[in-house]
Amino acid sequence: MDSVEILVICHQCRNENRITISKGDKTATRCFTCKALLLTYETVNGYIYLLSNPKMSGLLKIGFSTRPVEERVAELSSATGVPAPFELEAYFLSTEPEVHEQQIHAKLAAHRIKGKEFFELPIPRALQVVESICQRSPAYLNPRNGLARTAIPIKGGWDWGPGKPGILSET
Ligand SMILES: [Zn+2]
Repeated sequence: MDSVEILVICHQCRNENRITISKGDKTATRCFTCKALLLTYETVNGYIYLLSNPKMSGLLKIGFSTRPVEERVAELSSATGVPAPFELEAYFLSTEPEVHEQQIHAKLAAHRIKGKEFFELPIPRALQVVESICQRSPAYLNPRNGLARTAIPIKGGWDWGPGKPGILSET
C-alpha cells in the first residue's frame, strides 16, 4: 500500500477534505473550500536505528531500515555470526533514511570499525549526532538512556529541552 486517503476537517470552515497521501510526499495542503492551510506534512520513509549487543560491549550498530525496526532487529539478531540478540537503544523516524544514514556514518567516521556498520562511542554522543541529522528526537529510546523527550523546532534549529540524557555532562 503506497498511498492512503485521509479526511481532514478544516478548522476554519469545518468542511471535510478528502486527501490522498503517497509515500514520499512532502507538501502543504489547503482547504478545497476556503483555502485555509489544512496541514503540512512529510511521509515517514524509514527509520534510523541504534543497536547494542551485550556480547559486543562498547559497540553500536547504526543503520537504516524502510521496514519496521523490530523486524530488522530480529533479522540481524538471527544471523549466524551474531553472539547474542541485538538490543534496541533508540530509533528515529526519517524522511530520507538512506541519505540520513550516509550523513550519520560520515559524521561518525572517526568512531567507525573499519568496513563495518559498527561504531565505538558512547550512546549519548551517538544520539546527539543522529538527532542533529534526522532533525527530531527519538521515536523510541531505551529507558536506560533516559526519559524520552520531545524536540521543539526553534528559529535556526531544534531545542532538545533540558532532559537530554548525558549530553550536558559530556565533554
Ligand atoms: Zn475550509
